[in-house]
Parts: sequence; structure tokens; C-alpha cells
Amino acid sequence: MTAATREILVVGSGLGGLTAAIRADALGHRVTLVTKGPLDESNSRYAQGGIAAAVFADDTVDLHASDTLLAGAGLSVLDAVRALCEDGPLRIHDLVRWGVVFDDATDGSGWARGLEAAHSRARVLHAGGDATGRAIVLALIETLRESGVRIVEHAFVTDLVMTRSGERRVAGVELLVDGGRQILRADAVVLATGGAGQLYEFTTNPAGATGDGLAAAWRAGAVVDDLEFYQFHPTALAAKGSFLVSEAVRGEGAVLLDAGGRRFLAGVDRRAELAPRDIVARGIADQMKRQAGLPVMLDATGIGRETLLRRFPTITRATTAIGLDWTVDPIPVTPAAHYFMGGVTTDLHGRTSLPGLYAVGEVASTGVHGANRLASNSLLEAAVFGWRAVQAIGADASPAGLSGDVEAPDRVVGDGPVILRSDLQHVMWNDVGVERTGEGLLRAAGVLGDAGGPDDDTVEALETANLLDVARLVVRGALARQESRGAHFRSDFPKTEDDFARALAWAREVPEHAHR
Ligand SMILES: Cc1cc2nc3c(=O)[nH]c(=O)nc-3n(C[C@H](O)[C@H](O)[C@H](O)COP(=O)(O)OP(=O)(O)OC[C@H]3O[C@@H](n4cnc5c(N)ncnc54)[C@H](O)[C@@H]3O)c2cc1C
Repeated sequence: MTAATREILVVGSGLGGLTAAIRADALGHRVTLVTKGPLDESNSRYAQGGIAAAVFADDTVDLHASDTLLAGAGLSVLDAVRALCEDGPLRIHDLVRWGVVFDDATDGSGWARGLEAAHSRARVLHAGGDATGRAIVLALIETLRESGVRIVEHAFVTDLVMTRSGERRVAGVELLVDGGRQILRADAVVLATGGAGQLYEFTTNPAGATGDGLAAAWRAGAVVDDLEFYQFHPTALAAKGSFLVSEAVRGEGAVLLDAGGRRFLAGVDRRAELAPRDIVARGIADQMKRQAGLPVMLDATGIGRETLLRRFPTITRATTAIGLDWTVDPIPVTPAAHYFMGGVTTDLHGRTSLPGLYAVGEVASTGVHGANRLASNSLLEAAVFGWRAVQAIGADASPAGLSGDVEAPDRVVGDGPVILRSDLQHVMWNDVGVERTGEGLLRAAGVLGDAGGPDDDTVEALETANLLDVARLVVRGALARQESRGAHFRSDFPKTEDDFARALAWAREVPEHAHR
């Protein structure tokens, strides 16, 4: 190994992890990528609408940045937003170099461009119609397989491991693989473990989105922030599995109707169906309350059958599978937990507060999204910061990654009965969901604070324990933020307050050399 070559361990095979691994390999680092499922399973894979970047002639980095800042409701970090928007076009071209084929416009003018809520320009690139994530992930997996990256699938990271002596730093991970525990050492660990939609009863996220990386980083003592900000997607199919009906459908002209068949959002916000997600989600939740919990209807029939089938084949398949024909009739929709703005606090290059640990993509809190994410910025964030983290690793010192003793942090378990995952999800949905109150949050804090995590050594039990750690943090942040801002709405504090125009950050006090 040359002096600048590092042993890098990437955790996760979504866009953040794939970008970091491919880039690190290209720079000559020795890279291992571990992921808990098959390589092609991640939130990234299910992304529909697309990836935003200022790549068209009538668009600029400044416009993209100002839309992102507006959505962030005063909490986005300006430098992080600039990094995202400035690097964006470069990373789009990398994706193309790595084999991604974006859809072309039907008029032959170049790439097709989608318009999504709160974007002032049509700047969203898509692939495979509404299968953008799948197209990106599959292309990058092919590139990864041709690289020198060592791939370990079905390996569940249970915890980070820390050095026992000298500077306290992350020196690898502990894995549950083939039914046993193993420690994998590295100079640098890149967490790219995605979000935690499984905190909630209704979510667009796949089963694996259980906040494992965030919980592990928290246990190890990393600073985390913005955890009260969970974005609820306004329109998931009101049917088992909460399948996402992309924002892009409203971008193409679909409208939302109440139980009487009337549009209701114009009375909530002048941008109506294209208002930011939190406003649309709350508008729908309120309307559902007014109509005894009945879902509202999304009417996409005006878009036309031919466009719906070509542009949204995945949604067409999902609706057809449950006996709906959205080319002819409106379909029932409800809000669902979608994207975690908060996460492990990082700088502009994915560095966390723990030396040796980098975080990218949804598990990270880069400051890009602030209190609310602009649609289609998360795939871009994963690509931009996955790339940037590798730059940082090359530049940073790595004194003790591969030698010396290591240990995993201890776990905190409540004294109460073990909580079932479904009960946790129910509490989070009812009391820590789209609309919150101090009373509901205290109720949730009581239930979750006492709960014991399951102590089986199975992936499912460990995931539920991680969800419990993360849920407690979300409640803590939501209780502390006595205002409403972006995706965090408290009906007992409905106004945005200047005093809270800052991120709320937390770190666990880790006793010196705490053992499990
Ligand atoms: C239905 C849906 C539609 C979306 N549409 C869009 C869109 O159109 N545009 C957009 O920008 N964003 C969209 N998003 C959000 C976006 O997909 C994600 O925010 C983004 O892909 C996150 O990428 P990531 O690499 O950070 O994490 P992920 O893609 O979630 O990858 C996380 C990886 O970590 C692995 N992992 C997790 N825990 C462990 C563990 N303990 N051990 C080992 N491996 C682990 C997982 O298996 C997975 O491979 C959508 C999300 C969903 C769910």
C-alpha cells in the first residue's frame, strides 16, 4: 500500500455506498463493501421520481440552491447546499460514465426533465420512466462488480468498533454474518446505511430501513442532529405496503380530491398540489380527519393514458396489481413516512465527530435538507457526499485503523417489557407523526423510554433494538423543538420561532472503554 492508500469499509449498497466504493476503488484504495441484504436492496432502488441537478440551459446552481434553501425552512447549511448544487452536474456525468441511461425527451431535445414540488425549474432527470433508482443502482452494481471492491452481502453490521487505547476512533465494525459475529477492521468506515422509515406504521420505505447505522453511530458516541425532522410523503397508495405515488405525478398535473370529489389544497396553500411536501402531507392528514379517516383521492386521469403508462410504468403496475385503473379513476392516497432529514452530523466531506467514521446519504445529516428535503435532492446528496467522503478519507490521517485492540460500545436497555416492533411503529405514527403535541410526545417518551429491546441475536431483533434507540432520539428532538418548522409540526407550538433557527444536536456520553 502507498502512503495515501487506505483500507476502507463501506456499509450499505444504496447510491451513497456504491458511489463511495466505486470512487475509492478508482483512487486505488482497498475497499470492502458490506450490506445486510442482497447488493441490489436499498431505498435507492425504489426511488421513482428522479435526481435533481442544474444541468439544463435555463437552470443555474444558484436557482437550485435557492429552492433547496427555501424548502429547508431556515435550517439548511448554506455551504452544504452549495456543495450539493455545485457538484451535482459533475456527479450526474459520473453516473452516465458508470452506465446510467437517463430518459430522453420525446421531442429529441436531450434528456427528459421532470418538474417536482417546490422546484422553480424542471430539473429532475429520470430513468426507466419512474424506475430511476433501480436503473441507477443496477448500472452502478455492474460497475462495482468490474472493480476491485470486495463485496460481502447478507452481512449485518451490529455496531462500530472503537480503539481501546490512544485516540478514540472508529476502527471497523462488528458483523453478524453466517450466524456468527465477526469483526472487520478498517482505516475508515463509511456509513451509508440509509433511513429509518420502519419507525412508522405507514412508510414508503422497504423493510430494511431500520436506522441501524444511525443507532450504531449514536451508541459509539457520534454527534447526531435534526432527528425531529422526518419527511412524510403526501401520497402513498392507501393500501397494504404503502406504495409510493411519486410527486412527479402531481408535477405532471394530477390533483387531489376530497371525499366529495372537490379539490381542497388550494385553500391550504396557493401552490396547491405543488406546495412543499410537509404542507401537502398536513393538508391531506387534516382532510382525512375531516372525512373520518377516509383517504383522499389522487386524480391523474387528466394526464392521459398514454403518458401515464410510459412515464409511470411502476406505479401503473402497482395500482393494477390491486385492481385499480388510474388511467380511468382517481386512486386513494395517504401520507406515509418517507425520508429522514436528520442523522449523523457531518461536515462538507462526510466527516463525523468520531475520527475514522464518515457518513453519507440518508444516514447523514450534512445540513443540505434542513427542516425539509426538496424532492429528488436525496439521490443527488448520496452521490455528491459519497464522492466527497472519499476525498476526505484520502486527506485525513489514519493512525490506528488496523492495529491495537478494539471494542464495541455497550447498549442501553430499558427496564420495562420488551416492545414489539409493531407497537413501536404504532406509537410513532400516532404520537410522533405528521402532527405532534407535547402531550402525545410525552406519552411516546414514556412508552419508549421504559421499553426493553429484544435481546435475541437475530437480525430482526437487532433491527428492532436499533429502531427503539432511534425512536427515542426522534421523540427527544421533537419534544425539545417547541415550534413548527418544515416537516416538524407541533399543534401546541404552531409558529416558527427565531430561537429555534438552529439544529438540535445530541451525543451520548460514552464511558471510557464501555463494554457490552
Ligand atoms: C419509494 C421511495 C421513492 C423515492 N424516490 C426518490 C426520488 O425519486 N428521488 C430522490 O432523490 N430520492 C428518492 N427517495 C429517497 C432516496 O431513495 C434515498 O434517500 C436514498 O436513495 C438514500 O440512499 P442511501 O445510499 O443513503 O441509502 P439506501 O439506498 O437506503 O441504502 C442503504 C443500504 O445500507 C444497507 N444497510 C442498512 N443497515 C445495514 C446494516 N446494519 N448492515 C449492513 N448494511 C446495512 C441497506 O441494506 C442498503 O443497501 C425515495 C425513497 C423511497 C423509499
